[in-house]
Amino acid sequence: MTPKELSALVNSEALALGFDYVGFSKAEKLEEESFRLENWLSAGHHGDMLWMEENFDKRTDPRVLLPGSKSVISLMLNYYPEEKQKFAEPKISKYAYGRDYHKVIKSMMKKLDVQLRAKVGDFVSRSFVDSAPIMDRAWAERAGLGWIGKNANLISRKSGSFFFLAEIVCDLELEYDSPIKDYCGTCTKCLDACPTRAIESPGVINSNKCISYLTIEFKGDLPVSYRKKMEGWAFGCDVCQDVCPWNRLSKSQSKFPAKEQVINNDVKTWLEMDEKSFNETFAGSAIRRTKHSGFKRNLEFLRSAQDLSD
Ligand code: SF4
Ligand code: SF4
Repeated sequence: MTPKELSALVNSEALALGFDYVGFSKAEKLEEESFRLENWLSAGHHGDMLWMEENFDKRTDPRVLLPGSKSVISLMLNYYPEEKQKFAEPKISKYAYGRDYHKVIKSMMKKLDVQLRAKVGDFVSRSFVDSAPIMDRAWAERAGLGWIGKNANLISRKSGSFFFLAEIVCDLELEYDSPIKDYCGTCTKCLDACPTRAIESPGVINSNKCISYLTIEFKGDLPVSYRKKMEGWAFGCDVCQDVCPWNRLSKSQSKFPAKEQVINNDVKTWLEMDEKSFNETFAGSAIRRTKHSGFKRNLEFLRSAQDLSD
């Protein structure tokens, strides 16, 4: 098969399995992105995520991650939920309403791998869903699936930014796509709306100030000065995506139906949930990432802000 035919095959198989968008880029060093990542790390914007300092070469060059690789296949899967949370607090990031995306996407990628091998024979590849040192947004941008906005998310001109990203690094030679231009223009809605001013400059997020990092990755006591800035977020934060005009194009999907508790529970009901029922309720959910203790810490932080305003 020619690279063009191979790309067309991967595209049609991936779309048939339910992925929303597919794009192709040449496996090579991400020069500009390496420079930006280095600056971001030296500024300490990664907070306690020290693992981000590791594997710099692998992170910035897929040929180090998988020797002999020639191409990166980028895949996008919509997670914009149909359901809306009933209460203003506690807010949970939309990507975590339903089943853990790692499991769903890994299973879709496994099927894609089997189907491709049946048609093109054996090839060398590795698949990634948020699971290895790979700069997923940079690859999706190179593959022309969107641009990285001032909120640092990959934005599709057709459907906004509520998408999971996944990649296959492989030794297949494919026909490559071209990047598109940046359509943020003069808009600054995400910078203006960020409750903690975590977007320090276009595309540069200081994790130490970001509610998403603080409520999920950060393990210590939440900074008291942020008590009134959380805007009800208890797991992640969607503000910089919710205000993005491109997300008016988001269409809801049914692959990740929301858990009933995510939609209907208020802060009090959540706080009454013990560790056992938390673990049972969120078996196979991304919310387990904070563990019961982390989720409770976030809820109590919200409650303490409520007490201040009473
Ligand atoms: S996720 Fe929330 S806190 Fe983080 S940059 Fe976006 S708006 Fe700001
Ligand atoms: S809100 Fe505006 S500036 Fe921010 S990412 Fe969206 S289009 Fe770009």
